[in-house]
Amino acid sequence: MTETMKKIVLAKRPEGMPTEENFRLEEAPLPELQEGEVLVAVRYMSLDPYMRGRMDDAESYASPVPLGGTMEAGTVGEVIESRSDRFAKGDMAFGMFGWATHGVLPAKQLRKIDPDAAPISTSLGVLGMPGFTAWAGITAYGALEAGQTVVVGAATGPVGSMVGQLAKLKGCRVVGVAGGPEKCKMAVETFGFDACVDHRAHGSASEMRAALAAECPDGVDLYFENVGGPTLGGVLPLMKIGGRIIVCGMIAWYNGATDETGQIPLGKFWRRVLVKRLQIFGLLQTDHVARFGEFVREIAPKVKSGEIAYVEDVAEGLENAPEAFRALLTGGNTGKQVVKIS
Ligand code: NAP
Repeated sequence: MTETMKKIVLAKRPEGMPTEENFRLEEAPLPELQEGEVLVAVRYMSLDPYMRGRMDDAESYASPVPLGGTMEAGTVGEVIESRSDRFAKGDMAFGMFGWATHGVLPAKQLRKIDPDAAPISTSLGVLGMPGFTAWAGITAYGALEAGQTVVVGAATGPVGSMVGQLAKLKGCRVVGVAGGPEKCKMAVETFGFDACVDHRAHGSASEMRAALAAECPDGVDLYFENVGGPTLGGVLPLMKIGGRIIVCGMIAWYNGATDETGQIPLGKFWRRVLVKRLQIFGLLQTDHVARFGEFVREIAPKVKSGEIAYVEDVAEGLENAPEAFRALLTGGNTGKQVVKIS
């Protein structure tokens, strides 16, 4: 068995878009196992937009990664040593091992993964945190009824594609927003959206408004917010009275761009909330985690039967994680971005 592991640490805090110099690949001895702990060789590591926030030393819902600390990530891998009766050698486990080839955690912080139920990488995407985020938001705040219109950005990603598919199952009209004609085609053909608007072809809020209005002739009942920027500026005027906005993410602004929601001043936006009696919900998936089992029981059979589709984008090798992460922040990924470690 190997005696060392590799990990990627935060070398420097980024200003704007991260560059290669914000990350450093290091080699370290394998950690010692204590009683109750498990050593895992990581097979797949997840890359997610939230990791950009963890690189900043700013107040948020979670602590930043310290300088020199291992970048945070959900991972799935094989147990290669166990000092817990909950895991045996050869078991597959999900845990927060970070950007690393190996890791040790107490068994109680790990979740056993059944490799016969679905490919293990799905525990990072469609059957993991992003899929759950979509399910939790729709279940807790969606209040969807057949015939309603739903708009969601980053439509081919693991959150957006799940939102769209859940809304379709409820009988809604679902309009996605995605970057480029290929992704828009995927939203419709693979994920069953009714339509998809290319935000790269409609760069301003007014252009987005016109493009979305054509696809949402009755207005929008639910906007599932993943992106911010001109997409948000374009959707807001189309919200129906009593419409709902689930604020899940705003990736257009994660690198510090400040485009004022596509030219809608705050005062005008606030007035719109009043006049349209909008309901706005901040969504943090961790608040709903007690329902994770319910999510898996409902969604895993649908994934197995193909009723819910998923797409994964697999980068090869830990050393390529920084580049894949940078691409994710600008739409270079197609589907759930994971990194195959071994
Ligand atoms: P993802 O779709 O796999 O990747 C991010 C996507 O965002 C990119 O592929 C790109 O898609 C889009 N994007 C990037 N820059 C953009 C811009 N300037 N304008 C519009 N779109 C842009 O990501 P995900 O994992 O499904 O996450 C989606 C959102 O949910 C993110 O905002 C994330 O932070 C959030 N999230 C929140 C929670 C929570 O608990 N609140 C949990 C998980 C995720 P296109 O090429 O299609 O534009």
